[in-house]
Amino acid sequence: MLNNIFNFTISNTIDYVPEQIIDFFSKKYVAGTSLSDAVKTTVDLNSKGIMSTIDVLGESVYNEDQTIFFRNECIKVLETIKKESLNANLSLKPTQMGLAINKALCYENIRKIVKRAKELDNFVRIDMENSPYTSDTLKMYKLLREEFPGHVGTVLQAYLRRTVDDIDKLSDKDLNIRLCKGIYMESYKIAYKNPEIINENYIYCLEKLFENKAYVGIATHDEKLIFHAMKLIRKYNLQPNEYEFQMLLGIGEKLRDFILAKKHRLRIYVPYGKEWLSYVRRRLKENPNIIKTALGL
Ligand code: FAD
Repeated sequence: MLNNIFNFTISNTIDYVPEQIIDFFSKKYVAGTSLSDAVKTTVDLNSKGIMSTIDVLGESVYNEDQTIFFRNECIKVLETIKKESLNANLSLKPTQMGLAINKALCYENIRKIVKRAKELDNFVRIDMENSPYTSDTLKMYKLLREEFPGHVGTVLQAYLRRTVDDIDKLSDKDLNIRLCKGIYMESYKIAYKNPEIINENYIYCLEKLFENKAYVGIATHDEKLIFHAMKLIRKYNLQPNEYEFQMLLGIGEKLRDFILAKKHRLRIYVPYGKEWLSYVRRRLKENPNIIKTALGL
């Protein structure tokens, strides 16, 4: 009961907590403010047999010049991955590339990045943001997949009621999907709210993706889901290069070892950049228990 009150209070007040305090928690979730920090983190992960996906922090960009800045930074990430021989790819957010202001600009920005990824023999994952952007993100993914097969993927969220249908609609070609629960606040009309139903839908979608021969990034720290995913991997006799597990930096570190010990591939999401504040606030909102642990409560 007390725990629930604590979590509810933190989730509803975290937006008002000063930056200096949030900074204390940022170390766990964010590699640092510069690309060299993300490189350092990736080198460390690679030395443990873990891949990374590097993310330049930034979203909801409403200024065209700023989208160009982020586009260039993403290309720099891909070039640095090549130069430093890192086992890593890139994740980006559509609203960082201008989806909230100009769809054509956003598409052109992402297209340039995926084109560069192809030239460098790498891969770009288009993250999924909140529901106003779902359809446009999937449309862009479909177009880019036509032009750059094997170099682009996107994300589906198990909390959305539409996701099962989206899998059907996307399964006409090679499909590369990160499957996650979903992090944004969505209405009951379009999203499941009950955690058990979200988990059931996650397993249902995962099996559907495997049936449709998709490459899946199984993105979760939920031990129950990881257990079910491992059962499905066995059922479909998948080889380790036909899927991967994915986790966020700073979360589920014990689970990492378990996944690696079972010889599955694992990729960690490594965000960096000056815009770490909203990212860390989101992580803290999601799991206020982290605050209690850090404070020794
Ligand atoms: P949960 O039930 O939320 O968590 C399971 C357990 O993990 C918890 O009990 C706790 O022990 C631990 N845990 C979870 N979150 C935290 C935390 N913040 N701090 C400490 N411990 C925690 N969502 C999107 O909407 N779009 C995306 O593009 C997207 N990309 C993602 C990429 C990756 C690689 C991952 C791993 C997640 C991504 N997410 C994305 C977030 C995802 O949707 C979930 O919100 C998040 O992963 C938590 O869900 P869970 O499956 O881990 O299950």
